[in-house]
Amino acid sequence: MDPLQFNIPFNKPHLTGKELVYIRDAVESGQLSGNGKYTKMCQRFFEEEFGFLKCLLTSSCTDALEMAAILLNIKEGDEIIVPAYTFVSTANAFVLRGAKIVFADCRKDNPNMDEDLLEDLITPRTKAIVPVHYSGVACNMERIMELAEDHGIYVIEDAAQAVNSYFTDTKGNKHALGSIGHMATFSFHETKNIISGEGGMLVINDPELVPRAEIIWEKGTNRSAFFRNEVKKYEWVDIGSSFLPSEVTAAFLYAQLESMDKIHQKRRKIWDTYFERLSEWAKEQQIQLPSIPAYATNNAHLFYLVARDLEQRDLIIDHLKKQGILAIFHYLSLHRSPFYAAKHGTRELPESDRLSNSLLRLPLFYGLSEEELDHIIENLKSVPFNE
Ligand SMILES: *Cc1c(COP(=O)(O)O)cnc(C)c1O
Repeated sequence: MDPLQFNIPFNKPHLTGKELVYIRDAVESGQLSGNGKYTKMCQRFFEEEFGFLKCLLTSSCTDALEMAAILLNIKEGDEIIVPAYTFVSTANAFVLRGAKIVFADCRKDNPNMDEDLLEDLITPRTKAIVPVHYSGVACNMERIMELAEDHGIYVIEDAAQAVNSYFTDTKGNKHALGSIGHMATFSFHETKNIISGEGGMLVINDPELVPRAEIIWEKGTNRSAFFRNEVKKYEWVDIGSSFLPSEVTAAFLYAQLESMDKIHQKRRKIWDTYFERLSEWAKEQQIQLPSIPAYATNNAHLFYLVARDLEQRDLIIDHLKKQGILAIFHYLSLHRSPFYAAKHGTRELPESDRLSNSLLRLPLFYGLSEEELDHIIENLKSVPFNE
C-alpha cells in the first residue's frame, strides 16, 4: 500500500446521525436560549446514569471551572493545588479570581497527580485541590478526599476527559468520576469522547453549593427558582455570568449521549488493539505504554506513549508524519509556562518535565478504520531508532 494514500488526522469528530434531527426539533420548538428541554434532558441523563447530585450544562469545561471558582469564593491569597501537567483552564479559572496556583507533580506510572506528594503542598491558605483524570483514568480519589477532609478543603475533579469512567474504593464500591469531589467539570469539546463542538458541564455534589450554582449560572439572577415558582420575582441576587449553552448545543449533545455506549466500545476496541499490538515493541524500545491502576477503568479517551526522551519522541512523530499520520505531543508543563514560571519559582517537578518532553498521543477516533490503525501500528514498529 502506498503510504501517500494515508492522511490520518489526530482526531475526527464523530457524528451519530441524530444530531440534526434533535437540532431541528429544538429550532422548531421555538426556544433556542439555554435551560430548555434538551438542556434538562442532558442534565437528567448524567444525574441518573452516574449519580451526580446536580448537573448544569455550560458553554465549556473552562466555564464550568470558572463557575466552580466563583462558587467557592476564591480570592487573592488563596492557594489551589493543581497538577502542572494539565490544560491551562484547570489553573486559569482560579488565577482569574486572584488565587495562587501550587503545582503538583505526576505519578511515575501515569500522568495523574501523585497523591503522596499532596500533603506537603497544603498550607492554611489552601482552598481546593483540583485532580485531573488524565486520559479518563481516575486519580486516587479515596486518598485525595481523605486529605481534603482532614484539612477542610474542597475537591473539584477536572473530569474533562473522564466521561463514563470509574474509581473503585478500597471497600470495593464503584464511583463514577465526577461523582466523588464536591464538584466536577466535564468537557464536550470536539476532541473529547462525547462532543457538542464546544460545551461543558458543572457537576455539584455538595448540596450546600447547589442553590448558588444555579444563580451564578444564570447571570447572578434567581431566574431558575423563578421558573420553578419558588420566588415571586426574578432579581439580581449575586455575581454571575452567562454560562448556559443554547438549546442547539444541548440538542447536539443529547444525540451523542444516546450513543455513549457505542462510542465507548468503538474507542475501546481501538485502544485495546494499540495496546496489544504495541506491547512487545514498546518493551524492546523502553517506551512506556499507559498503565491503568487497579482502582480505575479505561474510557479510551486517548492512547499515549511515553518515549525514553525528547529525541526518541520527536523521531517517532517525524517518522509517522512522513507516512501521513498525525501523532502529537501533549501538555507543556504549566510550571514552565511563560505566564506562570516566575510565579511558580524554582520547585522542581521532574515527572511533569519528563512527560512534557516524552509523551505523544496517537490518533484515536470513532471513524479510524482498521486499515488506518494497521498502518499506524506497522509504521510505529518501523521507526528507525538506531540509525
Ligand atoms: C479539554 C480540557 C479542558 C478544557 O475543556 P473546554 O471544554 O475546551 O473548555 C480542561 N481541562 C482538561 C483536563 C481538558 O482535557
